[in-house]
Amino acid sequence: MTDLLSIPGLPPTGNLIAGLWVEGARPFAVLDKYSGRPIAHVTEASRDQVALAVRTAKKAADAGAPPPHDRARQLRRAALVLQTHRQRFVDVMVAEAGFTLADANGEIDRAMVTLELSADEAVRLVGEVVPFGASPGAHRRMGLTQRFPVGVVCAITPFNSPLNTVLHKVAPAYAGGNAVVLKPSAFTPLTSALLGEVLLEAGMPAEFLAIVQGEGDSVGAWLLEEQDIAFYTFTGSTRVGRIIQQAAGLRRTQMELGSIASTLVCADADLERAIPRIANAALRKAGQVCTSVQRLYVERPIAEEVTRRLVEYAGTLRAGDPRDPATRVGPLISEEAARRAEQWLQQAVQGGARLLCGGQRTGSVVTPAVLADVPQDGKVWCQEAFAPLLAIKPFDDFDAALAGANDTPFGLSAGVFTQDIDRALKAARTLRFGTVQINETSSARSDVMPFGGVKDSGFGKEGPAYAIREMTEERLLIFNP
Ligand code: NAD
Repeated sequence: MTDLLSIPGLPPTGNLIAGLWVEGARPFAVLDKYSGRPIAHVTEASRDQVALAVRTAKKAADAGAPPPHDRARQLRRAALVLQTHRQRFVDVMVAEAGFTLADANGEIDRAMVTLELSADEAVRLVGEVVPFGASPGAHRRMGLTQRFPVGVVCAITPFNSPLNTVLHKVAPAYAGGNAVVLKPSAFTPLTSALLGEVLLEAGMPAEFLAIVQGEGDSVGAWLLEEQDIAFYTFTGSTRVGRIIQQAAGLRRTQMELGSIASTLVCADADLERAIPRIANAALRKAGQVCTSVQRLYVERPIAEEVTRRLVEYAGTLRAGDPRDPATRVGPLISEEAARRAEQWLQQAVQGGARLLCGGQRTGSVVTPAVLADVPQDGKVWCQEAFAPLLAIKPFDDFDAALAGANDTPFGLSAGVFTQDIDRALKAARTLRFGTVQINETSSARSDVMPFGGVKDSGFGKEGPAYAIREMTEERLLIFNP
């Protein structure tokens, strides 16, 4: 337990239950993702602590949350408190998530917006008046709907957006009056612990937020056994999404799952705009973004130019130590993930792909890779890469490119660069994704928008205005004079 890499301002390493940070049953090391050195030992919650966390949340939810205006005030205050702790969040995310300084600061900026949007939604959650006059015999009735909290919301979150994705669950859940039990990724537990401190400091009542730390097959699985949880909001792999959905039974869930995101570039596209956007969308956070551009379809007449410019651009993105302000591509979440990416690239090359730049691995860092002529059955083409790589395929027929983008089990997000309104509209009609972006890449999320996938990318919408509706239940009230 010695020889920890020193990170200033670390949060508690225990589990947050009823406002207390309690040490758990088993310590696990949290690594600095660049150096591989431990930065802290967080303790995994025991089975009993998981049960206690859920019981406490249930009691709080049954007793009722503070009124909406108080919840809104607390969430708004949390955005301000978060800002005062910005440097701590940056230090922790750079270490445990491997984020570059720009990625860490971007995550914090967005988290503040998510908190403010959730505060807004806490005070404008409305129902509707039912036009009973339309039903013969019922015309004298008056009916209206109101939304009520579901009770205990369990949030299970991934490593790749350890602050904002967590807040997209915790903030709208509480805005809607629920108590939340959060299990963050065991790769990035400290960012959630810091967030717990911020929310308590901002005045969120302690019983309304529990944080249980640990692995998915222990703490995660125990949470699935807890019948007092009314709603599971999950972001992560499709594999784990299926497990959670199976355990949830008739309880409601929200599933933000895996993806292979495509972007199409037509010959009339504004390349000044498209090139930097595509490179950033493919390579930021070392490609570990669910909407990262993995497949790029480029219309044949400009394919050579787009490829050359992307290779040039990728070559300017320095990969390495995320603490260096010049670094644009930091480490992957583990050396194992980096080795997997390296193997997939090698396999693609053996299958006939041309590796035009990057793809070199040092420890957990992989230099940004651009590929052409990728075999159709290569893993970099037909499985989720979650690594800094971009595979380019020229197209002659726009319809065939749309069909290619659709030809994965996933449907989270797609992008099309074109000036042609007919093509834009056709793309919107044809691409079976939760989001279709015109003159943007697949990866341009704003926190206000309804965000979620179809097919194996899951269901349900994030974005505070939408998530709060998912996490509340509608009750119809009828007056019959
Ligand atoms: P993961 O599925 O491995 O883990 C996600 C969470 O589930 C972690 O907290 C993990 O501990 C927990 N978990 C694992 N096994 C469990 C079990 N049996 N029971 C309960 N919980 C369990 O995902 P990851 O590797 O952390 O994240 C990467 C994945 O997340 C990618 O597939 C990516 O596309 C996806 N993702 C999707 C979105 C989206 O909005 N659709 C956003 C970000 C990430």
